[in-house]
Amino acid sequence: MSAAESDGMHGFEPVIGLEVHVQLATTAKMFCGDRYEFGAEPNTRVCPVCLGMPGALPTVNQEAVELAVRAAVGLACTVHQTSVFARKNYFYPDLPKGYQITQFDRPLATGGRLELSDGGHSVRIRRIHMEEDAGKSLHDRLDGRTAVDLNRAGVPLIEIVSEPDLRSPEEARTYLTRLKQALQYLDVSDCDMEKGSLRVDANVSVRPAGSETLGTRTEVKNLNSFAHVEHALRFEAGRQAALLAEGGRVVHETRLWDANKGEARPMRGKEESHDYRYFPEPDLPPLTLSEHAVSGARDRLPEMPDARARRFRDELGLPDYDAEVLTASREHADFFESVARLAGDAKAASNWTMGDVLAWTNETGRSIGEFPAPPQHLAELIGLVADGTLSSTAARGVFALMLERGQPPADIVAAEGLAQVSDEGALASWVAEALAAHPEEAARLRGGEAKLVGFFMGHVMRLSGGKADPKQASRMLREEAQS
Ligand code: ADP
Ligand code: MG
Repeated sequence: MSAAESDGMHGFEPVIGLEVHVQLATTAKMFCGDRYEFGAEPNTRVCPVCLGMPGALPTVNQEAVELAVRAAVGLACTVHQTSVFARKNYFYPDLPKGYQITQFDRPLATGGRLELSDGGHSVRIRRIHMEEDAGKSLHDRLDGRTAVDLNRAGVPLIEIVSEPDLRSPEEARTYLTRLKQALQYLDVSDCDMEKGSLRVDANVSVRPAGSETLGTRTEVKNLNSFAHVEHALRFEAGRQAALLAEGGRVVHETRLWDANKGEARPMRGKEESHDYRYFPEPDLPPLTLSEHAVSGARDRLPEMPDARARRFRDELGLPDYDAEVLTASREHADFFESVARLAGDAKAASNWTMGDVLAWTNETGRSIGEFPAPPQHLAELIGLVADGTLSSTAARGVFALMLERGQPPADIVAAEGLAQVSDEGALASWVAEALAAHPEEAARLRGGEAKLVGFFMGHVMRLSGGKADPKQASRMLREEAQS
């Protein structure tokens, strides 16, 4: 096998385009007032409009429109002042009306872009349109039969369609990570994939490396984790390449990813748009936006991740690495900034946030909004280290107690008697005790073997329960070595 074939691609390169469905951060549905809540009792969040009862009329959720506009502006799209809702007709048990209201030939926005890294290669966004979600089929809930929960029917979504600009499954994952980050900064969705707030259809074709033409693609539907997207794309690209290498042809079809088996199986032939008999939604006027609404959204855009990372570097003096890690999620960046401002020490705030705070959110899987210690308390802890009240070792112990008790660090220090001891007399007695416990090493220290200072420091810190002022204690030990 040649080097070129060792990747299983037989000299072909993948071409990938993604369609991402994002649930908007508004509780009301797209065309009625029902309030959706993930995990609610099935079929309790429904009304004649989202159930598709005859004569029920949709009205547009303006908050959803605002969120969609903000997403479009944030992704550098041209937002159209007039867009048109359309009916997409198909039959499926989770679609009570027999059609989905979406946008077709006149979408909300077109022609955007997302950079894969600051100033790096960018992926073009073809369009963003608004639509309603379908309900959910629940398999095997009723003795192996399928039931339908229509709570999700009518929930507002945007679909973000990329151009086929991605060239590897890893790059597709980077795009999704960056897209999710941007959407969270823009506050348009919680992007919680476990709750289905962000779902991906992945399109992939392959072509001889270096070719400019597009091959026939397949589409893998409804992927709900980035790992699945990457895995499914690798599987599909490899399958297509092997097929073409032995003279076969790729069939334009929709496939379903089976995560347990690690394979994408054919689901149905790819439907063409005429299969859906799209036509303008007769019950809704075209969606119109004032110029002011669009320019206002642009003016109100928050600081986006790359700009924020640059500011953390240039204004707060953080290393590149810190700036990148802290801005990966908006909530961590916000938390860090509060601590840094209150403590007046950006690097210390960064160390705590990147270390212990991030570890807590990763381990518990909870959001930083639920973090038991407010920024104020962490800033106070940083202050206690800076003014010598706490050694950095003791500070970690106090931090752990802050999470347990939710108390400010000063209260914990007082209650536990944890304040650092700089008193000469107390330090001298710990030093004497440590030396007495190890007479052989003590003799070598006094003989000038300065590297034993570290050995005795360990003992002094243990004897003092971590409270000895390490600067003072090590000065006293060094003096022993010189005496
Ligand atoms: P449809 O609406 O029928 O699904 P589109 O032409 O709108 O098809 O494309 C949907 C997605 O498929 C887009 O993200 C696009 O980038 C991607 N795509 C289109 N053609 C190809 C191709 N030949 N290879 C890979 N991806 C493609
Ligand atoms: Mg599609």
